[in-house]
Amino acid sequence: MKGIIFVIDGMGDRPVKELGNQTPLENANTPYMNKMVEEGITGIMDTIRPGVRPGSDTAHLTLLGYDPYEVYTGRGPFEAAGVNIDVKPGDIAFRCNFATAEDDLTVIDRRAGRIKSGTDKIAETIRQMDLDENVEVIFKESDAHRAVLVLRGKGLSDQITDADPKHEGNKPKTVKALDDSEEAKFTAGLLNKFVEKSYEMLKDHPVNLERIENCENPANIVLPRGVGAVPAIEPFEEKYGLKGACAAETGLIKGIAKIAGLDIIDIPGATGGIDTDLESVGKHIIATLKDDQYDFVLVNVDGADEAGHDGDITGKRDFLEKVDRIIMKEIYEMDDIVLFVTADHSTPVSVGDHTGDPVPVFIKASGLRVDDITEYGERYAAKGGLNRIRGSDVMYIIRDLMNVISKFGA
Ligand code: ZN
Ligand code: ZN
Repeated sequence: MKGIIFVIDGMGDRPVKELGNQTPLENANTPYMNKMVEEGITGIMDTIRPGVRPGSDTAHLTLLGYDPYEVYTGRGPFEAAGVNIDVKPGDIAFRCNFATAEDDLTVIDRRAGRIKSGTDKIAETIRQMDLDENVEVIFKESDAHRAVLVLRGKGLSDQITDADPKHEGNKPKTVKALDDSEEAKFTAGLLNKFVEKSYEMLKDHPVNLERIENCENPANIVLPRGVGAVPAIEPFEEKYGLKGACAAETGLIKGIAKIAGLDIIDIPGATGGIDTDLESVGKHIIATLKDDQYDFVLVNVDGADEAGHDGDITGKRDFLEKVDRIIMKEIYEMDDIVLFVTADHSTPVSVGDHTGDPVPVFIKASGLRVDDITEYGERYAAKGGLNRIRGSDVMYIIRDLMNVISKFGA
């Protein structure tokens, strides 16, 4: 028996006028999910609690059974884990942008001309930086203009502000301590030194000289933000006695899974957008679901969230149809699974961001109290037999249906 949480990121939505007041999911033609709904049980879910607008990170932590108010310290640690840095509890992690600055450090392009290549060589140079004899600088490029920074050592704190000026035409912000501790002051000082030194080390970097020659903005400064101390999280396998894997597209979700101790499955061709290579994504998801070494798999496909952020109504609907046709078709045929399909939050196309609207849920498993719902959609699911649950209920429900949870009491 295998437990599966299948997250269609940002799937939940609101009625859209252009779709005859249906949501993209209600409007989408999803025969395989509909069949599973018909043979299963449905409901709606407040991932964190009613009205809370979840980030993808806090939502996924909750779905895995962790309390985000306890373990979520910021985005940095999860981004760092997502690019395969072996972060350790206590490390201070940041997400970074490669940006373009002038000699007085005024930032003129926060994305360094959306640089696509050469960031690995730039990262190699940054790793040579000598900040403090007791602090190790771990730095790695991510996709495009993104990177992560991890500081490891004694006397560090995450109680500091950001360096990213957020708007072009400004200099990097001076990082400040948020409390009176020596650790916060020390770390703030290190960050300010890091930003300045990054410019010194990168302004004449061969990759940048070539970019300047090609009339492209050089990646000559690094701007850290999203600071967080890497939390100590009870590994998933210890917590539940289940060996787990994660098949996801984005670094953020992979990072959460990695910090929770799940095995990370790499998916070639995954972009996290509606242009993702869904055939490849689907193939790797199905292979992971069929891999006998795992008792549990967390799946995330990201395109519906991106379309929601972009206000792309038909893009979102069509992506949901593709997920149904390419991935759900195969999952429909699988036995001996407890499958929980949902979203981590709503990303309504009319809002362009995450909202607190509850998300639709269905479960495919044997022995369910099947309800009368025959189609997958927000308002159909609201009438289902699972009623209204919270994200923190999910691992309990799955383990109960898998028969792996012990009785509470005699
Ligand atoms: Zn999300
Ligand atoms: Zn989003």
